[in-house]
Amino acid sequence: MNMNMLAERIELIRNNLAVASEGKYPVPELIGVTKTHTAEEILPLEQLGVRLIGENRVQELMSKIDALEGRFGIHLIGRLQRNKVKYIADRVDMIQSVDSVELAEEISRRCAACGRVMPVLVEVNPAGEKQKGGVSFSQTRPLLEEIRKFEGIRVEGLMAVMPQTDDEEVLDSLFSETRKLFEHIRDEAPEGVAMRELSMGMSGDYMIAARHGATMVRIGSAVFGPRN
Ligand SMILES: *Cc1c(COP(=O)(O)O)cnc(C)c1O
Repeated sequence: MNMNMLAERIELIRNNLAVASEGKYPVPELIGVTKTHTAEEILPLEQLGVRLIGENRVQELMSKIDALEGRFGIHLIGRLQRNKVKYIADRVDMIQSVDSVELAEEISRRCAACGRVMPVLVEVNPAGEKQKGGVSFSQTRPLLEEIRKFEGIRVEGLMAVMPQTDDEEVLDSLFSETRKLFEHIRDEAPEGVAMRELSMGMSGDYMIAARHGATMVRIGSAVFGPRN
């Protein structure tokens, strides 16, 4: 991929984020979503100031992690099976897709065994889509209550994946509700839970997410071009 094109796309995204979050919230951090791309394609992002990358499959991540480690913060953003946790426990910098007690427990156990505390986000599923991971709004606090005591993880916020729709009104209200939930929990300040990060917004909807106070946006195709 042409470096100039990559630079232009990233600059455009950064400008859009700055405009959308304008004054009301800090400009969200861009996470480059690098799934389906090779390490060689990903590495130029470093020069362009992208500090964080997101991958959604453990197996794919493991095939390229040697080349990426130390250059980027590496976040696991996709559905994670418990039996895969062992491969990433000492290698990724954050797991954004925690949506069950069992998964949180396994991450905690594996991380404690290698002497670290894993930053995690709880994944919410704002539209209640069955095929997606994530817990409902009403299940979020009970889940936090159960996992906040685990010693090998530290809850740092929420992550959300919105439905695929062009309906801006629908997205607007889902992002807004997710932000409200985030703020409610933050204000309640349950012990052992930090509500620092709100990871929401992808290529198609990141401006709406920024308008509603996302702290991280996860962007793949708007950086690299459409996946085929
Ligand atoms: C692929 C993916 C993204 C990025 O999607 P784009 O539409 O390409 O920006 C964000 N979040 C998750 C969880 C993903 O799997």
